[in-house]
Amino acid sequence: MKTSSAPGKPRAKAILISFEVPIREEFIMISMQGRNAVVFGVANKRSIAWAIAQRLSEAGAKLAITYQNERLKQEAHDMIVGLQGAEAFQCDVTKDSEIESLFATLKERFGHLDTLVHSIAYAPAEDMKADFLNTSREGFKMAHDISVYSLIALARAATPLMNNGGSIMTLTYFGAEKVMPSYNVMGVAKAALEASVRYLAHSLGPKQIRVNAISAGPIKTLAARGVAGFTEMLKAQADRAPLKRNVDVKEVADAALFLASGLSTGITGETIYVDGGYNIMGY
Ligand code: NAD
Repeated sequence: MKTSSAPGKPRAKAILISFEVPIREEFIMISMQGRNAVVFGVANKRSIAWAIAQRLSEAGAKLAITYQNERLKQEAHDMIVGLQGAEAFQCDVTKDSEIESLFATLKERFGHLDTLVHSIAYAPAEDMKADFLNTSREGFKMAHDISVYSLIALARAATPLMNNGGSIMTLTYFGAEKVMPSYNVMGVAKAALEASVRYLAHSLGPKQIRVNAISAGPIKTLAARGVAGFTEMLKAQADRAPLKRNVDVKEVADAALFLASGLSTGITGETIYVDGGYNIMGY
C-alpha cells in the first residue's frame, strides 16, 4: 500500500488501494445537514444514483430516492429505506402523472427542496447495437424522452419547491462529444442532455437554481451492460486517461456532493468531467 500527498500543501492523507484509486482516510466533510434532496435512478447497488445517494446521506441530507417500476422495487426499496434519512418512491419519468404525484408528496414531506439528481437514461438495445444510420424513429424518440426530456420535466416540477435556490444535476458521457462505437443514439441523446443543461441553467439562473452535468468515465452498471464493447471502453479509458485508471463511482458521488453543496454556488450550466482526464486527450 502506497501513500501520496501533494507537495508543499497540507492536505488529507490518501492511500492507494489495489486498483490505484486514491481513497481519502480523512476528508473535509461537506455538510448537507438541513438540506433536502431527491435522487432519481436507483436500480441496484451498482447504480451511480445509489453512490450519490449514499454520499448525500453521509453528509446529512434528507433524501427521497426513486426507482422506476415494480420490477426494480424488489431490489431497490429495501436498500433505500435502509439508508439513513432516506425514503423510497416509485417514479417512471415517462409518466407525467407519476412526476406530479411524486412532487406533491415531496411538497408535503419536505416543504422545500435543495438538490435534484437526475441519473436516468435509456435507449432500446436494438438501436444502440444497430449501425447509427439505421436508428429507428421510435428508438430515437424513446431515448430522448427518457434520457433528456425527463430532466426538463423534473426540473420544472422541482422549481416551485426550490424557493431558496437549489442545485440540479444530471449524468452524461463523453459519447455526447466524440463518437464511441456502440453508443450511437445514446450519444446523440447525451449531446441534447448537455445542451438542455445549458438552457435550463439560463432559464433557472434568476431563481438561483443551478443546473450542471457530471460527465463520468465508464463504470460497470446495469445501464453500461447495454453498451456493446463496454469492456473495451473501460480498457481504453484506463490506457489513455492521464490518471491511467478507471474512475470509481465514489469519485462521481464526491463531485455530486460538491455540486449539491454551498462550495459550488458560482457554477451553473457546466459539464464537469470525472473521467480521470480522458476527455483532454487527443488520441
Ligand atoms: P443504472 O442502470 O443503474 O441507472 C439507470 C437508471 O435509469 C435505472 O435506475 C433505470 O431504472 C432508470 N430509468 C430508465 N428508464 C426510466 C424511466 N422511464 N423512468 C425512471 N427511471 C428510468 O446505470 P447508471 O450507469 O448508474 O446510469 C445512470 C446515469 O449515468 C445514466 O444517465 C447514464 O447514462 C449515466 N452514465 C453512466 C456511465 C457508466 O459508465 N455507467 C457513464 C457516464 C454516464
